[in-house]
Amino acid sequence: MAIKDALRVALPVPLRRTFDYKLPSSAAGVVPGCRVQVPLRKRSVVGVVCAAHVRTDLSARKLKTVSRVLDQEAVFPEPLFRLLLWAAEYYQHPVGEILHVALPVVLRRGGSLQPARSRHWQITAQGIEALQTLAKRSVVQRRLLESLKAAASDGLGDGDVRFLADRAQPALARLVTRGWVTSTESDDHPLLDAAQGARPRLNDAQSQAVARINASLGRYTSYLLHGVTGAGKTEVYLRSAAEAISRGGQVMVLVPEIALTPQLVERFQHGLTGKLVVLHSGLGSRQRHRAWWAARQGAADVVLGTRSAVFTPLERPALIIVDEEHDASYKQQDGFRYNARDIAVKRAQQEKIPVLLGSATPALETVENTRRGRYRLLVLPQRAGGSAMPRVHLVDLKSVPVHNGLSAPVVKALAGRLEREEQSIVYVNRRGFAPVVLCSDCGWQGKCRRCDASLTLHQGSGRLRCHHCGAARSAPVSCPACGQQGLYHVGEGTQRVEGELSRLFPAARVLRLDSDSTAGKGRLEQALSSIHSGQADIVVGTQMLSKGHHFAGVTLVCVLNTDRGLFSFDFRASERLFQQLTQVAGRAGRGSRHGDVVVQTMFPEALSYVQLNRHDFDGFATACLAERRAAGYPPYAQFVLLRAEAHQQETPMRFLTSAATTARRWLNQHPVPDIRLMEPVPSPMERRAGRFRAQLLVSGTRRGSLGEFLRHWLAELETLRLAGRVRWSVDVDPLDLY
Ligand code: ADP
Ligand code: ZN
Ligand code: ZN
Repeated sequence: MAIKDALRVALPVPLRRTFDYKLPSSAAGVVPGCRVQVPLRKRSVVGVVCAAHVRTDLSARKLKTVSRVLDQEAVFPEPLFRLLLWAAEYYQHPVGEILHVALPVVLRRGGSLQPARSRHWQITAQGIEALQTLAKRSVVQRRLLESLKAAASDGLGDGDVRFLADRAQPALARLVTRGWVTSTESDDHPLLDAAQGARPRLNDAQSQAVARINASLGRYTSYLLHGVTGAGKTEVYLRSAAEAISRGGQVMVLVPEIALTPQLVERFQHGLTGKLVVLHSGLGSRQRHRAWWAARQGAADVVLGTRSAVFTPLERPALIIVDEEHDASYKQQDGFRYNARDIAVKRAQQEKIPVLLGSATPALETVENTRRGRYRLLVLPQRAGGSAMPRVHLVDLKSVPVHNGLSAPVVKALAGRLEREEQSIVYVNRRGFAPVVLCSDCGWQGKCRRCDASLTLHQGSGRLRCHHCGAARSAPVSCPACGQQGLYHVGEGTQRVEGELSRLFPAARVLRLDSDSTAGKGRLEQALSSIHSGQADIVVGTQMLSKGHHFAGVTLVCVLNTDRGLFSFDFRASERLFQQLTQVAGRAGRGSRHGDVVVQTMFPEALSYVQLNRHDFDGFATACLAERRAAGYPPYAQFVLLRAEAHQQETPMRFLTSAATTARRWLNQHPVPDIRLMEPVPSPMERRAGRFRAQLLVSGTRRGSLGEFLRHWLAELETLRLAGRVRWSVDVDPLDLY
């Protein structure tokens, strides 16, 4: 007999399906979006109800019962829940994993929806004494006291004790009455008070942008705020956010990285009035839960966070802002491979609110959406506050020699800045000392044993490191193959350039800023603040330097070695290079003094350099989009990449070959002319961290038919014999083709 009253539950397992359960007869009704704890094989897992009162094909005997209903109400507001279900379909990713990712860790583990008022426990001297004589059968009390003793003066919080015992709270209450444990209410309140200070008067372009955004509050509209570097985009964000808040709404602000731009948080704190909650990676799981709750209850007016913050529930959403919308960090690169920028747009659509994408170098997809009229364009053509765009000078390395990475024009420009006591940035694409270590006699090269990549020499630690898998070994003094003394160190990393600058300018304060120099708590903040306060004359650094910083004292930016970006097989390479160059160049001359940018290149005629020189983003975009259209690349087609990796070299290719056969069979039976299936190929870097990798690219021009194909194809792939022998994943709208 078919059962009509089952629950359809999404579970955190890597399968593209849901699971049916029945409610215990004692339980009251459950609505979609509630969490339930259910048995799954020998485990007990937390899932989310997708549908109630469904008819199941399982027999009464096979249909298991929900062990616990965890919520009285849906954990996700309805539009967000719908968004998550849409994402499962769009990204063809298991819905249970998506819902799991969208929840704070505390809730994934079954914790109560509303964070308990936070308490903190510590053991007393009497408690330590009592532990000696406490009866063996007082299991829970004993366990708690022992853990509290181990935690010593740090004590334990709510989240910790929940994992120690089911009935930890009442047991702790008894321990407190006995004087063995003390408890304090902790005040890790996640809300920051923002209070608006004096604001600059908006220029015309800014005012127009703000007026248009404000006029669309209350309904869905997508905007691209395209402003040159230093155009005052943040001021536009702040004014429209303030307006949305004053009308009783909440604002979500997505940023690429919070640690890198503490300045932005500060600007929000002084740029509008309200309660601000910041979701950053430094939050503990309980704090994150509180922040999530503050957003869900509407206690926070502004929710500012990175990629995953796009899934934060909001009680009265009014505006979504995506800063530096082109940034690659919005794309999740493993597991559920979503793009938070695209999700934000979809979310705005479902919440019926405006979304504002801001950038000086918008992604070509976004440009195309604007040109087709899907997004409205707001332009800030000039720098705010009167500063001009920096002058760009290209140094042709075919005719100008370099020494340790630096050409004479770069050295001269730096010397001039030092004389005038202005700050400079030297942008180097690689960290470490030298990316290649080579024997001139026998040709031996330092290669990673686990990747198809050469090892970078790091000074100080004296080690060769792989930047792909993190492997490291000590650098040999003589050639390990032929014994020849004196190996060559080819190419320049940040360390080498730093050394050369210190040698050339012994009196200058040279600061290196890369992920090596800023590893460790507080070091990045320290480095950034010494740049802001003028304690560094020359800053040598990687991409970290280009992101959104406003260093008012910097008047010179030198770009040393970005040519590699011209020769990547990746179709996005020139777009990326242009974005990188524009962003780093945009750090020059943002204050009262004029800025210069000196770019060293072997190929000054390359489009990315020519258009940088002209500050011509639109020209660059038009040329690049024409190439993409001719080649049938995104945004004129949609890409889906099937990746596979395994320890044996042949396995991924064999899996992908049968995946391609499966696909062809389906496509033959269901002719959809606009789907193109490429041949499986080994990945450009075939071996990485000891695994061999291969990929298969599919492209389509119609979303609907591609989606339908994917649904059938992936379901079939799950059943392939080889599927269990490789790690495989599907990447819809991949950012990299490797
Ligand atoms: P972007 O994010 O577009 O690169 P910012 O928002 O960082 O630019 O603005 C650059 C600088 O210009 C900041 O110091 C900001 O305070 C200032 N600024 C912004 N708008 C104005 C304005 N209307 N008048 C004067 N200064 C402004
Ligand atoms: Zn040798
Ligand atoms: Zn490696």
